[in-house]
This record gives sequence, C-alpha cells and structure tokens, in this order.
Amino acid sequence: MDKNNDRDKSNRTDSSNSNNKKEPGIHNDDSLLSRLKNNKHRYTFVFFIFFFIALSLINSFLSVDRNRQEIEYNVFKNYIVSGQIKRIEITDELYIGYPVDRDELVAVQETNDLRSMINIATYSTYRIDDPAFIPLLDEQGVEYYATAPTQPSILQTIISWILPLAIMLLLWRFLFNKMGKGMGQGVMSFNQNKAKIVAEGDTDTRFDDVAGADESKQELEEVVDFLKDSKKYTDVGGKVPKGVLLVGPPGTGKTLLAKAVAGEAGVPFFKMSGADFVEMFVGVGAARVRDLFRQAREKAPCIIFIDEIDAIGKSRGGGISGNDEREQTLNQLLVEMDGFNSAESVIILGATNRPEILDPALLRPGRFDRQVLVDKPDLLGRHEILKIHSKNVKLSEEVDLHAIAQATAGLSGADLANIVNESALLAVRNKRKEVAQEDLMEAIEKSIAGLQRKGRIMNPKERERVAYHEVGHALAAYFTTGADPVIKISIIPRGMSALGYTLQQPTEDRYLLSKSEILDTIVVLMGGRAAEEVKYQEISTGAGNDISRASDLVRRMITEYGMSEQFRNITLPSGQSQTMLGTGLGGQKEYSEETQQYIDTQTAQIVNIEYDKIVELLSSKKDLLELVTKELLERETLDGAQFSKLVADYEEK
Ligand code: ADP
Ligand code: MG
Ligand code: ZN
Repeated sequence: MDKNNDRDKSNRTDSSNSNNKKEPGIHNDDSLLSRLKNNKHRYTFVFFIFFFIALSLINSFLSVDRNRQEIEYNVFKNYIVSGQIKRIEITDELYIGYPVDRDELVAVQETNDLRSMINIATYSTYRIDDPAFIPLLDEQGVEYYATAPTQPSILQTIISWILPLAIMLLLWRFLFNKMGKGMGQGVMSFNQNKAKIVAEGDTDTRFDDVAGADESKQELEEVVDFLKDSKKYTDVGGKVPKGVLLVGPPGTGKTLLAKAVAGEAGVPFFKMSGADFVEMFVGVGAARVRDLFRQAREKAPCIIFIDEIDAIGKSRGGGISGNDEREQTLNQLLVEMDGFNSAESVIILGATNRPEILDPALLRPGRFDRQVLVDKPDLLGRHEILKIHSKNVKLSEEVDLHAIAQATAGLSGADLANIVNESALLAVRNKRKEVAQEDLMEAIEKSIAGLQRKGRIMNPKERERVAYHEVGHALAAYFTTGADPVIKISIIPRGMSALGYTLQQPTEDRYLLSKSEILDTIVVLMGGRAAEEVKYQEISTGAGNDISRASDLVRRMITEYGMSEQFRNITLPSGQSQTMLGTGLGGQKEYSEETQQYIDTQTAQIVNIEYDKIVELLSSKKDLLELVTKELLERETLDGAQFSKLVADYEEK
C-alpha cells in the first residue's frame, strides 16, 4: 500500500498529469468545521472546550450556595425567634442563616457527605442597620460570626478573563489562516512553505522501484556515485554534473527517478514544483529559491528537485515581459546555480516534458547541461512496471501480465499504475476476491478510451502502418552501403508529431558529404514511404517530413554544392543564404524562372530515381520486410544488434 500512497502524493503535485484525480468535496470544503477536522487547531480547540466545561461543572458543584433562599429581613428575624436559624454568617452585605449550629455542621462534614452538606437550606437577607439585631441573637442563643469581604474565586477569575481572551485568540487565528489561504498562499504563509525536507529515512524509493527505464537509470548512476563519494571526483579535479534535466512525457517516472537517485545515494531530497515558485507577489518566488538553496547547502550532499521546471524556466522572450515575477524567479535560480561550486555536492535535478520552451540560459554549461531522456516504456518495460504495481494487489492465477503489457502500447508508467488500481476497484465492484484478467482488460479499455480522445494513442491499423514505414527506413539503411547503421527502431509514439522513429548513428564525424552519400541519405529517407507502397500499394501522409527533408537536401545539392549537370560548380544564391540576420523575411528566389524550373524538375527527378530504387529493393525482399515488421510490432523497439541479426539470419538462408 505504500506504493499507492506514494503515487497519490506525486499525482497531486503533478498538474500536468492527466490522471490526476481529485477527491470530490473533501478538499474544497472550506467550512469552519472541516477546517477544524483538518488542522492541528482541532486539538487546541477541543482541549479548550473540555477545559471550560470541566471548570464550570466543578464550580457549580462546589458552590454551597445552591440551596440558599433569599428572604425578607423581618422573616429572617422571625426564623431566628422560631429557632429555624441557629447560626448566622455576617458578610459585608448579607446575613446568611444556617438551620444547624456549629456542632451539627461539623457532624455533617465528618460524614463527608457532600450532598447533604449542599442540601442544607440556608437563608439570606440584606443587612439593615438595626441596632436591635445583635441583642436579639444573643437573646436567642444563635451563633454568629463575620467573614471578610468576599474575594472573587480563582475559578471565577479564570472564567471571566481567560475564556473571552481564548475565544478571541482562536477566532483571530482562524481568520488569519483563512486569509492566508485565500491569497493563494501569499505573504502570510510563505514562510511555512519552505521546501519539505524529506529525511534520509523517508526517501525509500530505489532504482528497483522504477522499471523499464534502464538507459535513464544508467545515466543517473553517475550522479548517485558522485553524491555518495564526491571526494573521489573532486580529488581528481573532475568536473561533476551540477544540473541534470529529466526530459520526457508526463507520467513516465521522472519524479520517481529523482526520488530514487536520492534514495540510492542516501541523501536528503528537496522537492519543489516550478508552479510553487510563481506567486502573485513579485519577489516571493525569488525568495523561495534563495531559501531552498540555503537549506540545501546546509544539508549537503543532497538533491534539489525542481519538478515542472518549465513553469519558471519558460523562455524569457525579447523585450515585452509578460511576467516579471517569473523572470525574477528564473534569474534567482540562475544566480544560485552559478553560485555553487562543485565541491558543495548539491545536485539539481529538473523535470520537464517541454524542454523546447525552456530558456536557453538554463541549459548553458554549468547549469542544466545534461539531459536524461525518460521515455515511454516498451513492451518489456511495461511488463516490469505492471509487476511492480501489482505487487500489493491480489491477482488471480489466470492473470497474464504479459498480455496486459501487449495491450497497453503507448501508455506511460503512471497510466499503468492507474490501470492496476482501477482493476482492483473493478474486482470489488464485480464481487471478486481477486483481480481477474477481465478486470484488467476493462480497466485498460476505460483508460485507452480516454487517451484516444486526447490523441495520445494509435489505433492498431495506424500502428501497423507506422511499423512498415519504420522498417522501410531501417532496411533501406541496411542495404545502402554509404548509409549510417541503424541503432534503434521504435513505434512508441513520441509526443504529438512523431509516430515512430528510426535512429541511425554516424560511423565517423562527417564534415563532407560526397554526392553518393547524399543520394544514399535520400534512399533511406524515402525507404519509409516505399515500404508503405510495397505493403499497401498506397502511400500515406506519414512520410511528409521525410519527403520535405529529401527534397530540401536535393535542392541544396543543386543550388549550394553545385552538383547538378547544368550548374556544375556554381552556387546559386539560394533562399537560405539570403536570409541574413534571421529575419526570416527575405530569401525570395533570386534566380530566374527557368533556373527555378530546372531546380524543381531536377529535384523531382533525383528523388524519384532513388525512390524507385528502394521500392524495387523492398519488393524483392518483401518477406524480410514482413518478418522484421512482425518482430517490431511485437516488441515495439528493436535495437541495432537485434535488427542486424534478424536481417543477417534471413540473408543467410
Ligand atoms: P512524471 O514525473 O514523469 O510525470 P511520475 O514520476 O510522477 O511521472 O510518475 C507517476 C507515477 O507513475 C509514479 O509514482 C509511479 O507510481 C508510476 N510510474 C511511472 N513510471 C514508472 C516506472 N518506470 N516504473 C514504475 N512506476 C512508474
Ligand atoms: Mg512528475
Ligand atoms: Zn519516415
């Protein structure tokens, strides 16, 4: 259950997380009662109430005056004469008459019967200046004595002074708190809002809790190593990372990884979200940054984690500033980061899903100069994540997590954690004692329906087409001698635009491209569309980007590198070289109509030749295309070695 709690917490801080669920009502109810329930004042308040109830009870209990009857002076005198009053207490205002004399009173007291003492009815009357009164008492043999003027009892003092004071104090505090809240945690409360220090023992997240992000973990190993033993690095004079940016779509475990780094290194973890810094009041955010870094310095070695750093790190833009406060905060952050020297062993981790909007100043050397990609999990990764999150859930024996992983392509770790959670709820609703495969499948459907509406997930047909397309690129690269080898093929969608991708690695640094190398590149670029044509005899829009890159390359071949028949060894003043100073406006064609036409037809011709070549090649190796695509659809990613082995095995046959 620990896991679930943990996830809830991180979800709440993660505003970009689409699976963010709010408990309805509970947190929005701002009534006095619910506030009492929710905060620590509750105890003070209850204590006060009980205290005063007890006080007044004791007071009324001890009061012997309960049975006193006020009577007229002449009646009082009559009672003395008739012997109903045997003892009189004379105060500065009153005569109080007791129906018992001293001996009887002592006798009652000795029985210790409080109740009978209280029940002795007494009489009182206001004093009248009557010279005949005392002689009457002597005559009747009534005992009489005087008491000092009455002092208010301690209890009375307490009640009459402290109670109103306490009530005022309480009211004042509530009011104050409410104001603080109403101002969006403004000035009043910002002192209490310092970064929470999660003590070493609290950071019990480890790398093992993060599944399917092996590459990211590997890159973070070094950070852990440094935090554990910074001396090792500084002794050698090595440069250590100061800021590491975790980049990836929401819910892929960036926050989790940051925590795991702290957990593995056994250092304190300071977490703050970018949104926490941006406040109504100018200067508050900057003050918080200062405060955060001051605290961190005291606790070094440690980790500062700034979640959703884009909230403060957005590019500042030129001139017209939209948000002074954010800018000040960002500047303060930059200042603090520069103020560290590497011996201080404080490492700053940032997380964002939009690195492209960050201010370039943040990414400069000495700041967040390292990026670690935290991508959506592949099939194996998803299986591992499901295993982790179902640890605390009772699964029936027939549950096949691998099948669940296969059915959840494109989902993030947080989505998967949600599905497991949801399936447990469904199992309860379906009156089962254990989660069945059915429940999991139902949970997936729910989750995917929501995501499809948001366009975050592909339907199976599209997915297949993307797979053929990517394998087309990869095979084109493999069979083209001058092309760079393939290092990764993936059909896990990345962001909004790229549905899949094929990565190639340059074998050596290239400063020159020969004409044939350019042509080889074009073959690879066209490989995607060619595979679609071979498979479906129909092309799609999926290759738009490939085509524009290919034609751009060919155009430059002609205009910049002088590689065409007609303009051999001549640079044509192309659009791009004219766009000086990045105005983006100029750059209209400088050359004549005919030249323009020549460039266009040449470009089309060259691209077409290469395209036909690769269509022919893929047609002749259709079985291989099918084989690799099938494998890719199953595994979602293939690394270079896996891919080469598949092709090599096929070629041997
Ligand atoms: P991000 O910060 O990238 O948006 P989080 O770290 O907040 O994502 O992830 C939210 C939750 O999803 C985590 O608390 C965890 O329960 C689950 N989760 C995400 N990725 C993984 C993963 N790779 N392994 C295990 N759990 C994960
Ligand atoms: Mg997060
Ligand atoms: Zn492509």
